[in-house]
Amino acid sequence: MTHFIKRGLILSCIAGLALAGQNAIASTPDQTYNLTILHTNDNHGRFWPNRHGEYGMAARAALIQGIRDEVASNGGHTLLLSGGDINTGVPESDLQDAEPDFKGMNYMSYDAMALGNHEFDNPMSVLRQQYEWARFPFLSANILNKDTGMPLFKSHEMFNLDGLKVAVVGFTTEDTIRIGNPEFLGGVEIQSPVEVAKELIPELAANSDLVVAITHMGHYRFGDHGGNAAGDVTLAKAVEGLDVIVGGHSQTPTFSPDVQNNTLIVQAKEWGKYVGRLDLQVRNGAISVINYELIPVNLKKKVKINGEKVRVFIDKEIIADETLQAILEPYQNQGQEQLTQVIGNADEVFIGAREQVRTRETNLGNLIALAQMARVQADVGIMNSGGIRADMPAGDITYKDVLTVQPFANTVAYVDLSGAELMSYLEAAANKAAGSGAFAQFAGVKITMTGDNMTSAAVAGKAVEPTQTYRVAVNAYMASGGDGYPRLSDHANFVNSGFVDAEVLKDYISNHSPLKTADYAAKGDVTRN
Ligand SMILES: [Zn+2]
Repeated sequence: MTHFIKRGLILSCIAGLALAGQNAIASTPDQTYNLTILHTNDNHGRFWPNRHGEYGMAARAALIQGIRDEVASNGGHTLLLSGGDINTGVPESDLQDAEPDFKGMNYMSYDAMALGNHEFDNPMSVLRQQYEWARFPFLSANILNKDTGMPLFKSHEMFNLDGLKVAVVGFTTEDTIRIGNPEFLGGVEIQSPVEVAKELIPELAANSDLVVAITHMGHYRFGDHGGNAAGDVTLAKAVEGLDVIVGGHSQTPTFSPDVQNNTLIVQAKEWGKYVGRLDLQVRNGAISVINYELIPVNLKKKVKINGEKVRVFIDKEIIADETLQAILEPYQNQGQEQLTQVIGNADEVFIGAREQVRTRETNLGNLIALAQMARVQADVGIMNSGGIRADMPAGDITYKDVLTVQPFANTVAYVDLSGAELMSYLEAAANKAAGSGAFAQFAGVKITMTGDNMTSAAVAGKAVEPTQTYRVAVNAYMASGGDGYPRLSDHANFVNSGFVDAEVLKDYISNHSPLKTADYAAKGDVTRN
C-alpha cells in the first residue's frame, strides 16, 4: 500500500500517515525513497536469551538481517537505532561492563544509540570504554561535558542514503540527574531536552529530508508525565519539524504508534523482546508511513496441551545467528563464573529463612531495606519479607549468595510522599500480618502501633510532620500493589530507579564489608501495644 499525501494531513490510521515534513527537500526531485527504521530500547544487559529461550541478541541479529536483506532487495535503506539503556539489569552483563551487549550491537551494525540514564550507573571510565567498543555513535544533544559545554559524545549524526538525508539526534531524560549515580555524574551537565530540541530541530530540519530523534525520555500518554521528567509526547508537541521519535525509558510497547503534532512516536518495550519496524516512503519532501509493527523475538506464551501448561512461540521461531551466538557464549560463561567470586563477608549469618523473616524483624531484612534506601537516597526503606528467600551465609559472600537471597530481579523504586501520605502508608505496612510474605521489614523509621492503629512514627529520630516530604524506597512489586500494599506506582512522584535489588544489595555488601550483624540487629522498628 503506497500513499503520497500532502504534508500536514493526518489520517486516522497509521499506514498512509504523513509526518511533520517541515524539512528542506535535500533529496533528488521526483525520486521515491524507501526507508525502514528498525529499533530497540532498554536492552538492560539482555544479550543472552532467558531460560525459556526468549529474546537474546543472536535471534535479534537473525531477524534484523532478514529484514535488511528484504528491504535492500526492494532498493530500500535501513537504519537500526537504539533508544538507550544498554546497561544494568543482568549480573552476567553488569559484571563485564556490558561488553557482550556492545559487541552484539556492533555485530548487528547499529547505526546510532541514544544515551540512557543507566549509561551513567558506572564510573565515566566505563562509559568511555563502552564508547571505544562501540562502532556506532552515542547520541545526546542535552548531556553536556561540564568543562567544555559541548555534548558529552555527539548531539546528532547525519546519514546520506543515496541522496536521502536523514538527521538522527539523541535526547536523554532530565531525570538522569536524580536517578543516576550522583558520584558518576559530576562531570556532566544535563539540560532540558525540550529546550535544546527547540533550538536544534529546526536547524536539522532545514538540512535534511527526515529528522528522527532517538530518545531516552519515556512515553507518557497525553504527555502526563507525573513525577517523571518530560517525555516524548511533550517533546513532539513542543517542536516543529520532528518526524519520528524512537523512544525508550518507559519500556512501552507501541503496538499502535502515538502521533502527536505530526510526529510519530514509537518504542519497543524492553530487553530486545521486540524489534520495531517502521517502513517510510519519502518523495519530494513528503514522508508517508507505509507500515509499523513490533516483531516479537522468540517470545512465548503458556498454553495448556493435554492438561499440561507448556510454553509456545507467539509468532514463528527465529533461528539464532550462529556466529553471534558463538561470539556471545564465552561472555555468558565468563559471567556465570564471576557470580561465584567473593564480593564481601560477614561475621555471622544474616537471617532470611522464611519462618524467621516473615514473622519478625531480622538483620537481613534491615540490611536489604537499608541498602535500597541508601541507593535512592530515601528517608525510609520498606521490604516485603516474601522477597527475601534465604539466609546469607557467615564468612565469604558471593554474588550467587545474593541472588539466592533476592532471585526475582525486582527493581528498586521510590516515591516522595507528604508526611500525611507516609503515615497512612506506614500504617498499612505495619499491619501486614506476621507469617505472610507481605510482612514488612523497615529501615529509617520507628513506629508505634496500638492494635491496628499507628499511634506514632519517627523518621531519623523525629516525629513525622504531615506537611514535610519524605522519600520512601520500596521494590517495584510492592509499588504496583503486590502483597496488598497500597499502590504507589501511579503516584505523581513515583520513580522506578531501574536498579535491580540483588545488584543493590551486592553493591552495599561490597562497600560495607566486613559486615557485622550487630550493626543490623533487630532494634524494635515496630513497637506493638
Ligand atoms: Zn531509562
